[in-house]
Amino acid sequence: MKMVFLGPPGAGKGTLSDMASARLNLPHISTGDLFRAAVKHETELGKKVKDIIALGQLVPDDLTIALVRERLNHGDASKGWILDGFPRTTAQAEALQEVDPVDLVVDFEVQDSLILFRLTGRRLCPQCGKIYHLVTMPPAKEGLCDHCGGSLSSRPDDREEAIRVRLLAYREQTEPLIAWYGSRDLLVTIDGSGAPDLVYSRFESAVIRYRQDR
Ligand SMILES: [Zn+2]
Repeated sequence: MKMVFLGPPGAGKGTLSDMASARLNLPHISTGDLFRAAVKHETELGKKVKDIIALGQLVPDDLTIALVRERLNHGDASKGWILDGFPRTTAQAEALQEVDPVDLVVDFEVQDSLILFRLTGRRLCPQCGKIYHLVTMPPAKEGLCDHCGGSLSSRPDDREEAIRVRLLAYREQTEPLIAWYGSRDLLVTIDGSGAPDLVYSRFESAVIRYRQDR
C-alpha cells in the first residue's frame, strides 16, 4: 500500500509514520531524512542539495522529486511505502502520481488549541534527545532528564507565536494539496487527538475501509 501522511506540526505524524511502518512492514520515507542521507553519502543529487541548503534556500521541486523517485526505486519500496513531508505542493503531487501513484492520503487533523498544548509543553533533552511533556509526560525531577540527567529545554520554534506562524504557513501551503487529493477520492481525514495508540486504531479502521471499498 502506497500512502502519504499529511498533518500540521504537532499532529504526531512522525510517531504515527513510525508505528505504521513497523506494523505494516513498509518503509517510512521522510524527505528530511532523504536530504540528509544524500548529503552524507555525497551522491550527485546530494552535492546539489548540499549547496542549496548551505545557502539557506528551499530545495526545488525537481531535485526533491528526483530524490524521491530514486528512493522509491529501492527494492524495499516495491510493495508500498509511507511518505512523510512529501508532497508539499500540487506540482509535487502530480509528479508523484506519474512516478508511483498513491493509494491513500491520510490527513491527521488536530485542533490548533491541542497543537499549542502539545508543542508549548514539549521539553527535550539536548544530551540524549529524549522528549518530555510538562503535563502528559513529565520527568521525575523537574527540568532534568530521567535518562541521563541533562537539563531539559524547549525549542525556540515551539514558542506560541512561532507555532501560530508555522500553523498558518502549513495550512496555506497544504489546503490546495488536500483539495487536490480530495477531488481524486484519495483522501481520508483522521482525528489526530488522543494517545498515539488511539490515533493508530482510527488509522487502521480507515485502511480496512479503504481495502473493502476497492
Ligand atoms: Zn537525556
